[in-house]
Amino acid sequence: MAGANNHEVLLLMGPPGAGKGTQAETLAADRELQKLSTGDMLRDNVSQQTELGLQAQAFMDAGELVPDDLIIAMVRAELAGRDNVRVLLDGFPRTTVQARQLDELLAELGAGITAAIALEVEVDELTRRLLQRSSEEGRSDDNTDTIRKRMDVYAEQTRPLLDYYRQRDKLHTLPGTGSIPEVQLRIQQVLP
Ligand code: AMP
Repeated sequence: MAGANNHEVLLLMGPPGAGKGTQAETLAADRELQKLSTGDMLRDNVSQQTELGLQAQAFMDAGELVPDDLIIAMVRAELAGRDNVRVLLDGFPRTTVQARQLDELLAELGAGITAAIALEVEVDELTRRLLQRSSEEGRSDDNTDTIRKRMDVYAEQTRPLLDYYRQRDKLHTLPGTGSIPEVQLRIQQVLP
């Protein structure tokens, strides 16, 4: 049956430690979206020692990006065939190639990006937050060397992507500082 669909695709972007995961939880619940975090999906694959997990682990431990084709196949397997796409993407896309492929996939599903939110936080504050997370959660990639690497990777490979969404009038850049509810409110206020 060809019913009216109700697509909504939000992207949450920003450097490691900007608060994407935290904000994504509340935002997804509030707007009845499924939160899809490629980092979480990869960590699940690593802990279950799937073929993908085995391929991805070394890149993740080094603070590097997992190759685009692996990421895109993983996201495609999750979204393909849906007739109503209501998702909040956390940590994807991270390269221009991924952004283009996401646009193609969404077009196939009759959907498109609703909005891209980029949270901005100073490097010193990001490092402080990541080191705190490392003592609380023990994530293997939250150590001083890897944090620096992930910041560089963000600056070189992901930050340029903001222009991709700016040019398409989808980008909202917001300060990621302040309390968690303050940031959440800022996000809610810019969304359509
Ligand atoms: P995150 O939890 O989003 O910080 O991701 C943790 C790690 O997973 C990253 O440092 C990358 O190695 C990998 N990763 C997560 N999402 C992506 C993506 N969209 N593209 C490439 N690598 C990713």
